[in-house]
Amino acid sequence: MPILNSIALVVDDEPNVCDVLCMILENEGFTVVTAHSGEEALGLFGEYFFDIVFTDVCMDGISGLDLLTRIKHIDKSIKTVVMTAHTGYDTVLEALRGGAHDFIEKPFTDHSRIASIALTARSHALLERDNQDLLARLKIKHGKLEAANKQLIELNQQLEKLAITDSLTGLKNRRYIDSALANMFTHYSRYKDPFCIAMIDVDNFKEFNDQYGHSAGDTVLKLISEQLQINTRNADTVGRYGGEEFFLLLANTAPEQGLVVAQRVLDAVRNSVIEVNGTCVSVTVSIGLSGLDGTQELDREQTILDQSDVALYRAKQQGRNQLQVYTAI
Ligand code: GH3
Ligand code: MG
Ligand code: MG
Repeated sequence: MPILNSIALVVDDEPNVCDVLCMILENEGFTVVTAHSGEEALGLFGEYFFDIVFTDVCMDGISGLDLLTRIKHIDKSIKTVVMTAHTGYDTVLEALRGGAHDFIEKPFTDHSRIASIALTARSHALLERDNQDLLARLKIKHGKLEAANKQLIELNQQLEKLAITDSLTGLKNRRYIDSALANMFTHYSRYKDPFCIAMIDVDNFKEFNDQYGHSAGDTVLKLISEQLQINTRNADTVGRYGGEEFFLLLANTAPEQGLVVAQRVLDAVRNSVIEVNGTCVSVTVSIGLSGLDGTQELDREQTILDQSDVALYRAKQQGRNQLQVYTAI
């Protein structure tokens, strides 16, 4: 059966050898190209795409073993068969160690063996090329998968961040605050590390919106969020609980110490001004503070939230623009 597009190169300084091999290989369907020196052979690689090369070992100039090495550098998948008149195995061993596929001895006595070697070598060459092709395709696929995976991780991170961020102020949102408070409460139940929370509500904000417009109101909310961040530590959790309500969660801070922070926030907001239509305006906030000082026991975190609400309600009732700490009475 003819072998489509399979080209063999035969390199030997003796034309007779080339002729015999040509005949054997052409009988097997190969297209055969011949060269009479290593140099001539190398010149043919730009012209043909060889599957197998039969090469003499002892030649003037580039020897068969040198040629073998150079072919390996050109294309690892080309299978090389060395032809030697030497009966000693040293040359053969050297050739095989150098990557030769097989060897045949001269003069040729067993043509069918040569044909069989050629066909096997060709199958190996084709298999190796298929493998190389598969590997290259796998590499591309792997690269694409890796890029897609990286993109997915980044998108997930963005999504996770969005899920816990308030879009107007960039502060943590209620979802995050609730879970941070739950974690803090669990930690407290075991270690009794004190902590406190502050619920901060803008005073008469409806009036402010009505008078200056919703957009000015939004600017105020952003300004308050900045003041909250400036006046707290990185370890503190600062969030927007909803609407015009903000929230502080201060770890390792007893309510007594939290008072200082809350007072600072109260003053900072009161002293901040924004310009609306050429007029400088400011707002005030009321703050309700509650927490656990390390000695108390509580059954659920909601109680602390309720207590801060009670304190905030008192602050509002007593005239706003002030801070109240939760007490039982
Ligand atoms: P109080 O001092 O008792 O808290 O009075 P208040 O007017 O602040 O409270 P109320 O609950 O009656 O109104 C809250 C207002 O906050 C109403 C609403 O328009 C405003 N508000 C809530 N969320 C936003 C927001 O995202 N942007 C703006 N501009 N205003 C908001
Ligand atoms: Mg409110
Ligand atoms: Mg309010």
